[in-house]
Amino acid sequence: MTTYETLRVVNPATGEPITTLPATSADDIAKAAERARQVFTAGVWSRLPVRERAAVLLRLADLMERDAEILARLDSEDAGKPITECRTGDVPGAIESIRWFAEAADKVFGRIAPSGPHGLGLMSREPIGVVAAILPWNYPLAMTAWKVGPALAAGNCLLVKPAEATPRSALHLATLAAEASLPDGVLTVLPGYGSEAGVALARDPLVGALSFTGSTATGRRVLTAAAESNFKRVSLEMGGKSPQVLMADALAYGDELIDNMIEAAFLTTGQNCTAGSRVLVHRSIAEEVLERFTAAAKELVIGDPSDSRTQVGPLIDRAAFDRVAGAVEAARAGGAKVHTGGLPHGLPPHGAYYPPTVIARAPDGSDVLTKELFGPVVTVQAFASEEEAVRMANATEYGLAASVWTRDLDSALRLARGIEAGVISVNAYSEGDITTPFGGWKQSGFGGVEKSTNAFDQWTREKTVWIRTH
Ligand code: NAD
Repeated sequence: MTTYETLRVVNPATGEPITTLPATSADDIAKAAERARQVFTAGVWSRLPVRERAAVLLRLADLMERDAEILARLDSEDAGKPITECRTGDVPGAIESIRWFAEAADKVFGRIAPSGPHGLGLMSREPIGVVAAILPWNYPLAMTAWKVGPALAAGNCLLVKPAEATPRSALHLATLAAEASLPDGVLTVLPGYGSEAGVALARDPLVGALSFTGSTATGRRVLTAAAESNFKRVSLEMGGKSPQVLMADALAYGDELIDNMIEAAFLTTGQNCTAGSRVLVHRSIAEEVLERFTAAAKELVIGDPSDSRTQVGPLIDRAAFDRVAGAVEAARAGGAKVHTGGLPHGLPPHGAYYPPTVIARAPDGSDVLTKELFGPVVTVQAFASEEEAVRMANATEYGLAASVWTRDLDSALRLARGIEAGVISVNAYSEGDITTPFGGWKQSGFGGVEKSTNAFDQWTREKTVWIRTH
């Protein structure tokens, strides 16, 4: 068997194999799309009364709750995510997504055009038919649920391709969906390689919409493939290099500020699209912030992701380690000051562990300042004015998220207006909640958002019915 016929899932913490699965081929994708098309056309899901669809999804959410610990362990083992994060963040968030979109399913209304007495224009929201999701490895279940919830609530048949490294939580979700009586062929999970299964999905002529979450480089390929095939609708949720902006009065928030900064920087070991990987701090408090932030970063518990005390786990693989270490060493060679507490003794030798690292005085234009490193590495830069803070915040090709810390409401609002990002949190590190839209600007996002009722725009299309009145 060649590598492309099987998918080897490896525990990033130990380098030990977990399982080997058959890898979905391009031919399998074509067959799954054909089957989904038949199921959609048969109407067993798409024409089911919407309250009945909602009931199935609510049952699915209940089953996820029953299996919450199993789901948390699958993601923790496959992605090397600290288990406490999976238990308290990813899994409850995924359950909430399914439940919220189930409950929202019958609250999506059409429109009537203000045409006048000669006719009536009715605009209805319709499912697209066969739709697809391509997923990253860093929030395997949570990202799956952000897509499964609205796509199925809207009546589509969904093909899901999880990331190579993390297929097992999505596969388990599919078994729970069957147990919840979701009709066969409505949700199909297709583990496989991006270069084969991902490309085939992006080019499939039956897939009417594709929601992708992953890196900006891959997003560009997916959009090209859609343009070169059937112009399927594409939504892209991609990378980030998000700033945390601390104004001169930010230390009024004391430990809460430092705790939020640590979470922003090191959640999921910094392998987080909205990681606050650039701290921009007013020069009057820069020294104190650097000292307190660095001290807190050194306190983080690094270790086995299955241990509930662990806060920082391994990177996903050796290639990620090399990328992160290479950028940090280049910055150091360019004159940056690198602060790290190093790694504890006794970590498994084959885990790609990298210690939380805080970098000051990084050279202008260096990769640590501009590239999404996707690791536990944060830069700290000082600014002298609000205008300079905005200019520095916007000085990357990304625009996913930002946080702003100040007690001055006017300043907070000016910063929130000036920073080019899809989600800006004030005096918190947060992406909002399930009711608020989430999507990137600039090269972080394109074509649609996740969460909130706006997410239905990705998974529905509007039809105008014009009725002439006499
Ligand atoms: P990736 O781009 O390497 O892979 C994402 C998915 O795309 C995988 O399933 C992969 O198999 C597939 N893929 C690869 N090549 C493909 C191709 N040519 N055609 C179609 N599919 C292909 O990303 P990753 O390393 O899995 O995830 C990390 C990235 O995801 C980071 O950049 C991170 O910022 C981003 N991310 C963004 C969000 C968001 O909501 N904006 C959320 C999580 C992660």
